[in-house]
Amino acid sequence: MFKAGIWIETGENGVKEANFGVITAARGHGDAEIHAFVLDGNADAYQDALQSYGVQKIVSLGTDGGDLSSKPDLQAAALAEAVNHFEITAFLGLSSARGRDLLARVAALMDAPLVQDCIGIDLSSQTVSKSHFSGKTVATVKINANPFVCSVRPNTIEAQIAPCQCELIEYRASVQDPGKLAVKEIEKSRTGAVDLTEANIIITGGYPIGAAENYNLLQQCADVLGAAVGASRAAVDAGYAPHSMQIGQTGKTVSPKLYIGCGLSGSVQHFAGMKTSKVIVAINTDAEAPIFEKCDYGIIGDLFEVVPVLTQVLREQKS
Ligand SMILES: Cc1cc2nc3c(=O)[nH]c(=O)nc-3n(C[C@H](O)[C@H](O)[C@H](O)COP(=O)(O)OP(=O)(O)OC[C@H]3O[C@@H](n4cnc5c(N)ncnc54)[C@H](O)[C@@H]3O)c2cc1C
Repeated sequence: MFKAGIWIETGENGVKEANFGVITAARGHGDAEIHAFVLDGNADAYQDALQSYGVQKIVSLGTDGGDLSSKPDLQAAALAEAVNHFEITAFLGLSSARGRDLLARVAALMDAPLVQDCIGIDLSSQTVSKSHFSGKTVATVKINANPFVCSVRPNTIEAQIAPCQCELIEYRASVQDPGKLAVKEIEKSRTGAVDLTEANIIITGGYPIGAAENYNLLQQCADVLGAAVGASRAAVDAGYAPHSMQIGQTGKTVSPKLYIGCGLSGSVQHFAGMKTSKVIVAINTDAEAPIFEKCDYGIIGDLFEVVPVLTQVLREQKS
């Protein structure tokens, strides 16, 4: 039997929504039995959500070697042992900051092939797709060994409900803490409540934003939409926004359902970081701006006039 295992990334609000897209991808193999591996000890609280997306077994993972929460190498050792124990063929997770680190450790311990930041997965043929050269090409990678490990770019695969009954399993890995690494502190980004790489909606301000305080205009719209706020490199270089907000080739890679670009020219380097967005809306004063050839909806207008109106209309609709 083909078994797919998924590392479930959790945070303050429980299971991160982007995990459900990874579970959906794993279901692409018609016969796969889906195992979810939970490391934070709250597996029972996540049962309803995970089984509604088709997870058949939830493995609540603990160790004899101490608390898993702040020890990336202990987590990796526990996961590698569990993947082996449950005879998982494909081990998947989110290509988030934590996921890229953790899955690389797991793959190294298992001596398994690893493909990071996949934008598509077909487990039946053991192929994945991966964007290269700033998104100009997409490579199809065939994985010729089992088990293998892949991380999936958050939000690239649409989550689809597939309710089933799942079993909760406690598994204690016999690994010990190598003691080499411990996360002491995680400092929260100062840029809004919603994490850019996991946001379903992003509103980005480009160079014409003109000043750091003008991002408040976008933040107000973002608050109504439940969105995150991003910036172009030109805006970051000008000191209007921190680098943590930069999207693009030398910034973050995002894949929201809706991307609203305000005062963006549409450079290839910016698009390298957001071209997999499902719907792109552009607001630009110049009708000839390249972004209008790459967006789904375009508004020719001044962002300082359009965004407040948009915020007002959305607020009215919401109330
Ligand atoms: C190696 C390399 C890596 C790079 N990496 C990145 C990256 O990661 N991310 C990134 O973003 N860029 C990156 N760049 C920079 C990129 O090439 C562009 O210079 C940059 O994206 C332009 O930013 P912008 O669209 O905000 O500004 P601009 O190019 O200045 O465009 C502003 C646009 O806003 C319009 N406009 C002006 N005023 C208004 C207004 N009031 N309302 C609405 N529209 C208005 C203008 O018509 C124009 O089209 C990189 C470049 C290089 C060489």
